[in-house]
Amino acid sequence: MKFFSDIKLKMKLLLIIVPILLSIQLLAQNPVKNRRDSLITAGISSQIGLYEELAQKIWSLAELGYQEYESSKLLQDKLAAEGFEIESGVAAIPTAFTASFGTGSPVIAILAEFDALPGVSQDAVPHRSPVPERSAGHACGHHLFGVGSVAAGVAVKNWIQSSGVEGTIRVYGTPAEEGGGGKIYMVKAGLFDDVDVVLHWHPSSSNGADAASSLANKSAKFRFYGQASHAAGAPERGRSGLDGVEAMNYMVNLMREHVPSDSRIHYVITRGGEAPNVVPEFAEVFYYCRHPLAEQVKKNFDWIVEAAQGAAKGTQTRMEYEVIHGLFNLLPNEALSKTMHTNLLKVGGVYYDDKERAFAEEIATSFGDIPYNLESAKMIKPFKVYERGRGGSTDVGDVSWVVPTAGMRAATWVPGTSAHSWQAVAAGGTSIGTKGMMVAAKTIAMTAADLMLQPEKIKGAWSELVRRRGKEFEYQSLVGDREPPLDYRK
Ligand SMILES: [Zn+2]
Ligand SMILES: [Zn+2]
Repeated sequence: MKFFSDIKLKMKLLLIIVPILLSIQLLAQNPVKNRRDSLITAGISSQIGLYEELAQKIWSLAELGYQEYESSKLLQDKLAAEGFEIESGVAAIPTAFTASFGTGSPVIAILAEFDALPGVSQDAVPHRSPVPERSAGHACGHHLFGVGSVAAGVAVKNWIQSSGVEGTIRVYGTPAEEGGGGKIYMVKAGLFDDVDVVLHWHPSSSNGADAASSLANKSAKFRFYGQASHAAGAPERGRSGLDGVEAMNYMVNLMREHVPSDSRIHYVITRGGEAPNVVPEFAEVFYYCRHPLAEQVKKNFDWIVEAAQGAAKGTQTRMEYEVIHGLFNLLPNEALSKTMHTNLLKVGGVYYDDKERAFAEEIATSFGDIPYNLESAKMIKPFKVYERGRGGSTDVGDVSWVVPTAGMRAATWVPGTSAHSWQAVAAGGTSIGTKGMMVAAKTIAMTAADLMLQPEKIKGAWSELVRRRGKEFEYQSLVGDREPPLDYRK
């Protein structure tokens, strides 16, 4: 027995001693970086209450794309109070802003989003419970995205002030990510022209900093104009806008067989007539067209337009279309992402207290058959490079083709949660969301500080950007010369 208790005691001692030795070793390896990181993370942690309050205000406001007046102002006010120089209403978008601190180069940008999604109203409780007076919700966690990025920016500013390092930190308030493409117009306005590196993050149900891509995406509303008449009494005098929409959709559905199989085309009929006994004078269909490569999106989109033109001809209606957004795929940057991943490992994941665990367990009961592991909130996913995007799209894509860009995700949602779900809104309104947001703020701030001190890393990131996009590349937005669709949510 004594032998076994000795072993147990030794094991316990080892468990205590090994982490201490490892920390001492780490400290010895790079004591300057460790001191810097501790200063940055302690600064962010000391303001956790303030940042939580700010995020919860924006969560409750749940303002839609290009209408995020109060949310944008809350972030600008915090940055102005910290001594940042604010430029409001940039790129002809009332809710877009930049906030700069410091002098000279390098210029490190941090992106901050804050728009909500329509139709996903939900209270901060672990069962389905819409908030009656609210129709929108932060189902993509952009309230955390915005505040987390502001927290990172403020931490870098504090470090610049205390260390006297030369460089500029700039927070970009980027509206209407969900379909309005705010960043496209900020890129087109030249707002990133003097930027050396862009950092961003996104709320998620896991932690990771992969060099990842996304799908390029172009969307448009196709409008068919016909002639109203009595559908039974004088059908020969009518021409149906809905016929135009249906003929177009039929052709696009045939087209699916002949485009690359990783293309994604989806539509909703937003206007289809009002009454069956009236030949619809007007109908509208809203299309999204996606692929891992922007070049292929252009080809598929042009074919969709041809289908719409053919449909109008065949139904004797008139067709007009309006491009709503057009996003590039994210260009991965392995060099930058590795730096971010190293810092994320150091910061660590999200640890639940008893109350948060109970909340997470109840949320998880709503997932049905989807497998989940609550313990994974603590873990950091191994680093990977994804050359081709899957799933979603983002307007960070356009930014990543003009400046080396790296992003990460943090577990602000219960593992197993899908973005754009009520479960995402719910967790984003609790301390689980705040804890994930803090992981991102600390990692981004540490990464920005590392990059400011290591110009060779920035140089490497630029070589990678040029290699990936090709020497001849010239940025031409997929939206052409359209203005920001400021009323797309109205
Ligand atoms: Zn989203
Ligand atoms: Zn999002």
